[in-house]
Amino acid sequence: MPGPLRAVELVHVRMPLVVPFRTAHGTTAVRDALLVHALTDGADGWGECVAPASAGYSDETLDAAHAALREVLVPRVLAGSSIDDVTGARFARAALGAALLDAWCKQHDVSLAQYLGATRPRVVAGVAIGIASDTVTMAERYVAAGYRRLKLKVAPHVPVSVVAAVRAAVGPDIALQADANGSFTLADMAYLEALDDCALQCVEQPLPPDDLAAHAELARRIATPICLDESISSAADAQTALEARACRVVNVKPGRLGGIDEAVRVHDLCVAAGASVLCGGMLETGIGRAVNVALASLPGFTVAGDLSASDRYFAEDLTDPFVLDDGYLRVPDRPGIGVEVRTDVVARYTVSAERL
Ligand code: MG
Repeated sequence: MPGPLRAVELVHVRMPLVVPFRTAHGTTAVRDALLVHALTDGADGWGECVAPASAGYSDETLDAAHAALREVLVPRVLAGSSIDDVTGARFARAALGAALLDAWCKQHDVSLAQYLGATRPRVVAGVAIGIASDTVTMAERYVAAGYRRLKLKVAPHVPVSVVAAVRAAVGPDIALQADANGSFTLADMAYLEALDDCALQCVEQPLPPDDLAAHAELARRIATPICLDESISSAADAQTALEARACRVVNVKPGRLGGIDEAVRVHDLCVAAGASVLCGGMLETGIGRAVNVALASLPGFTVAGDLSASDRYFAEDLTDPFVLDDGYLRVPDRPGIGVEVRTDVVARYTVSAERL
């Protein structure tokens, strides 16, 4: 815990995306985010709640996370109590934990990446391309901009020929992944076998999240490594999935896992098991992105994740923008999350704010 906490602000921002993002769960045209601003003596900390606005990806929506923060989590930390024994409300806990850790790191003059034990000054950037009518053109544009890794959102109604066409268009040197967000079943083997022929780095969450046995069955039938995202809400889930041989890669997102500590635990156990991790994205602003970039600088992140430059999402970011540099993003090395929060920009996109 950082030094004396004076107040916590919850700021709901609504940011238009430069390109609407469509997945098997639905379309996002504006990103609603809840910022947690921890005011302490000496340093302010910021965290970003990445719970989706509507159900689909997770059971915890942004409204539910907001209520958990306002009614349970923030009052507890303001009273000096721990929230470690709270179960559920993972997205809410992750956001508050990130804000408190940012403040703590600033008070101790250490960057988040240093605190986590980072080993790289920069991380490979990647871009997730939503379901669209011009996927090949978008893929070519991102490669021309410098991205070396693309993730294509797929679903049963998206022709698998689109993935093959992207592979043909970008050539063999671009790392290509597909993410189905749980939209297939083993009855779709023809599609999944066709994906297997596209030289993918991994196929993410092909089957429903609660069906590890089906993922293990699929893993025996295709050569492409399976990555799990929605299936994994904790380090214990990751352990179970690895033991079931349901995946060889785990998508690590602090929000879905309840916080940065749990994300590091998943990283560590995957490394110990010889599996890989990639750092996923939830259309974060610079505040959440800074956490992801710091996390992805740990050694086990051997598969490129969803870490894009700010301008892939927003016309203006809430922080100093993350910019693409030769296919990489620089890991911030200043104290805390290491990027300055632009409070004037935050104010411009604020829908509501409250101080507790
Ligand atoms: Mg995913």
